[in-house]
Amino acid sequence: MASTKFKRMLNRELSHLSEMSRSGNQVSEYISSTFMDKQNEVEMPSPTLKEKSMSHISGVRKLSHSSSLSSSSMPRFGVNTDHEEELAKELEDLDKWSFNIFRVAEFSNTRPLSCVLYTIFQERELLKTFRIPVDTFVTYVMTLEDHYHGNVAYHNSLHAADVTQSMHVLLSTPALDAVFTDLEILAALFAAAIHDVDHPGVSNQFLINTNSELALMYNDESVLENHHLAVGFKLLHQEHCDIFQNLTKRQRQSLRKLAIDMVLATDMSKHMTLLADLKTMVETKKVTSSGVLLLDHYTERIQVLRNMVHCADLSNPTKALPLYRQWTERIMEEFFRQGDKERERGMEISAMCDKHTASVEKSQVGFIDYIVHPLWETWADLVHPDAQELLDTLEENREWYLNAMPQSPSPPPDRHLQHDRFQFELTLDDLEERKKKESGICLSSLYLLQETFHRMLRTTLTSSHDIKSKNKTKKAGF
Ligand code: AMP
Ligand code: MG
Ligand code: ZN
Repeated sequence: MASTKFKRMLNRELSHLSEMSRSGNQVSEYISSTFMDKQNEVEMPSPTLKEKSMSHISGVRKLSHSSSLSSSSMPRFGVNTDHEEELAKELEDLDKWSFNIFRVAEFSNTRPLSCVLYTIFQERELLKTFRIPVDTFVTYVMTLEDHYHGNVAYHNSLHAADVTQSMHVLLSTPALDAVFTDLEILAALFAAAIHDVDHPGVSNQFLINTNSELALMYNDESVLENHHLAVGFKLLHQEHCDIFQNLTKRQRQSLRKLAIDMVLATDMSKHMTLLADLKTMVETKKVTSSGVLLLDHYTERIQVLRNMVHCADLSNPTKALPLYRQWTERIMEEFFRQGDKERERGMEISAMCDKHTASVEKSQVGFIDYIVHPLWETWADLVHPDAQELLDTLEENREWYLNAMPQSPSPPPDRHLQHDRFQFELTLDDLEERKKKESGICLSSLYLLQETFHRMLRTTLTSSHDIKSKNKTKKAGF
């Protein structure tokens, strides 16, 4: 299978990277522990658990928003605010990748998710199409927003709002014009909105390692993602919260199936499989004369939606640098808090979670090179040429983090090492300019590994499906 080969290749690359330096090791550890599925690799008997009742889902709280709402007194953007004018100005960019969700949070009384969802649903006329009562809608989205943790640095409702707005833009990409049904669009936006609800600010692995209730409940498999879905759906049962009350039984079933599929695809350990399948899709894609993708079958459309939500979840590095940097600060803060918890408990500290040793800039470069760029480059191929601009931003942002990396101390004047370095640089003529900015063997090697990896990836995936590559000349170096 393409994804197995892909994982094996990446494993090899990462092990080289980890041998190069301590921080290279951390980056490599982070990528392999977060984005690669360890299933089937470790032989461990799964714990036999007595069936547990699902009627109680932890984290679901009774909150009342309904009494304060009525369709006649609904604020313009679904939220009470003293900054409606400023908010209106920000929301003018709702359909753009450059949208500033941080400012929307500021002007919406810290209700970015409610405000963005309300405005997107109004703009797309989804309330009308699916006969969703406006007060029910606002009650549900406020309740949903309240189930995101305000004290979690990254996985709070701002991130959910960001992913939802990113989905909204991706759904409107010209190459997918009129491809999805209204129900699929409804499901995609709903999935994005709930995809991290009740996130506790620690990873799946942490929950598994600490024998948490959640890991027990979901038998260590996509623990958080299963929980986000359970909470998102359970909240529909609260008073005045059933936004799908006027859908037919069939529509409800399809929507549920779609949303489950999409949210489970946000488990980062599924990344390699998703990407390998997306690559295959790109190689065999068919488009109409006007450049719109032909996706006749449900399996093809859900595959695109799955990747779309995954792309939106990994879109921070494709946004304008000032936004991206704020996301990085938030995720690192959350990682470091998890690291502190691990230290307190005497556990091994997870990769990138040790505030004393993590290299923020290096981890972003590694994250882009090994995960974000391969994914977005493939997405850009799928919807060519729609995503070119954000791919350019991604590359500029990578440069910025590369240049922001603290310089490593000069290598010791060891003849053997100097010889290696000299030889190495000779093989990398075309990267000379960039390399000057990098600090010695380790980072130059990272580049080489990355480029080799991309090249190998393209060749292997193409040959494994026995498809002659039509796009070989597209990008030099890849
Ligand atoms: P989610 O947890 O569902 O939001 O999935 C996104 C995951 O991707 C995060 O948990 C991180 O592991 C990773 N990720 C996203 N953005 C970044 C970033 N800027 N730096 C490092 N890792 C990231
Ligand atoms: Mg998640
Ligand atoms: Zn997320």
